[in-house]
Amino acid sequence: MALFPPSFIDDLRARADIVQVVQDYVPLKKAGNTWKGLCPFHGEKTPSFTVNPDKGFFYCFGCQAGGDVFKFVELQEKLGFPDAVRLLANKFGMAVPESSGGEDGGDAQEREALLKVHEVASRRFAEQLAGPAGTRARQQLSARGMARETIERLGLGYALPSRDALKAWLVKEGFEPRLLLRSGLVVERETGEIVDRFRGRLMIPICRDSGSVVAFGGRAMEADQQPKYLNSPETPVYSKGRTLYGLNLTKADIRRLGYAVLVEGYFDFAQALQAGVVAVVASCGTALTAQQSHLLRRFASRVVLSYDPDAAGQGAAERSSLLLVAEGFQVNVALLPPGDDPDGFIRKQGVGPYVELIRSSRPYLEYLIDRAAEGRDFGQDETRREFLNRMLPIAAQIPDAASRDQFGDRLAHKARITEDVVRAEIRKAAVDRKPALTARELPSFGQIRPAERGLIWGLFQDEGAAEALAALEDADLETLLTRRILEVARGLHREGVVDVPSALLARLNVEEARLVTGIAAMPSGPAPPQECVATLRRLRFERERTELQRQIDRLQSDGGSEAAIAALSRQKMELIRRIAQLSA
Ligand SMILES: [Zn+2]
Repeated sequence: MALFPPSFIDDLRARADIVQVVQDYVPLKKAGNTWKGLCPFHGEKTPSFTVNPDKGFFYCFGCQAGGDVFKFVELQEKLGFPDAVRLLANKFGMAVPESSGGEDGGDAQEREALLKVHEVASRRFAEQLAGPAGTRARQQLSARGMARETIERLGLGYALPSRDALKAWLVKEGFEPRLLLRSGLVVERETGEIVDRFRGRLMIPICRDSGSVVAFGGRAMEADQQPKYLNSPETPVYSKGRTLYGLNLTKADIRRLGYAVLVEGYFDFAQALQAGVVAVVASCGTALTAQQSHLLRRFASRVVLSYDPDAAGQGAAERSSLLLVAEGFQVNVALLPPGDDPDGFIRKQGVGPYVELIRSSRPYLEYLIDRAAEGRDFGQDETRREFLNRMLPIAAQIPDAASRDQFGDRLAHKARITEDVVRAEIRKAAVDRKPALTARELPSFGQIRPAERGLIWGLFQDEGAAEALAALEDADLETLLTRRILEVARGLHREGVVDVPSALLARLNVEEARLVTGIAAMPSGPAPPQECVATLRRLRFERERTELQRQIDRLQSDGGSEAAIAALSRQKMELIRRIAQLSA
């Protein structure tokens, strides 16, 4: 399962001195226990970027970037974790154990071979496009407005209209037919004959964000050729739901600008990129997956959807957009004229109007409200109720409270309902959907309780914090924004891990690591760990008491049995007693 043995990662972390690694990119000056310098992740004139070699993390007080030595390389070099590990291993002269032998070794070897065969096939397709056989394909691309430079940048190619030209070439290059079948570049007929999957098609290489070709999309060239797009199947190196088309080319710009323009198709991407919209990426499929959105989250927190308006409000496109909202992205929508896509629009209207469309994009949630409100008569109670009920599930997906309230106020305004009423309804809907409120995305300092901050700070600075954390029960953590972080830390301590801070950072995503290092870099903690534990326990008891009171009220108004009410009241009294004990 794990790509590298944990012991190797630990060894590498110990050897890869974070100060030395950072100093390859940023000059640092020693200041007490930490080192300071100008942040490489945001423009600044006075240093707010700190590195703590003892605890093995960096943190910027300006832009809140933070993490361990691997995270630093990931951010700085725009790499995923495995590639960051390889880079550091290389730098510090450690051999990378790609797998732990046995079966796994075979898998790793096969993956290498699959990457190789895709690389060779991709080169072959590109040569064919550039050669005499590719004349018509080149004409079609040129009719689509594709400049030669773009074609080369995307590595576009051409598959000959032949039964097995590619297969023959790849076999000649030394690839086994068995591997070719695994790659999906060829298919086995019922007769046992092996033929090319892609024939007479424009070939679009699909890459990982590191740039390796892992699959192809093949576009039909004839009107009667079916299907219009033929794609590689899922293979050990390619999972459609985890890949975003074009990210390998645009990730640096997306990170620099902090947003991504999300389009649907390959040619929407190509056209936008060629038009100079540098932060573009394509979903290449109907509905975005959670993995795709996590991938994008590594690079940006804002997304501009550039969809056909008919599609934007419904079905798969709406699901994708709401998924992004739920993942904490700030989502805007740039509406094209009905029936148009970015490819067609840019070709007809040119670059300027498209860029203007992106620039004047509006918040997606506002757009949803306006669209749902269209043609409704809010003079009637029933209409208002129905409208509100339609929008509540959407409101419940919004992960942070401030945006949720903002959405609520807009709803209230639109439907002429009192703001407080709408806010209360939304809060209720959001609580019913608790999983959306986990710590995974976007908690900002303001929303996190001092007791949570105290525990996290203590983990890094105070020996006793891990012990204190171990005393917390699952129910104590239940509604906390930092629940996942605290759970992971508690688990590590229980497993007997000695260096909990390092192991914790290695297991968190970029957002979580940023949050944790931000807290750890504070000069002092808000409260001692033991006190934080008591506070969280008390908050839990308060929650339980409120819930009991609610049940009691309900039983009383529904005429429930005296015995049941008495039992609940006793439970409530017990809780009150325990709360008093904790406060003493
Ligand atoms: Zn910074």
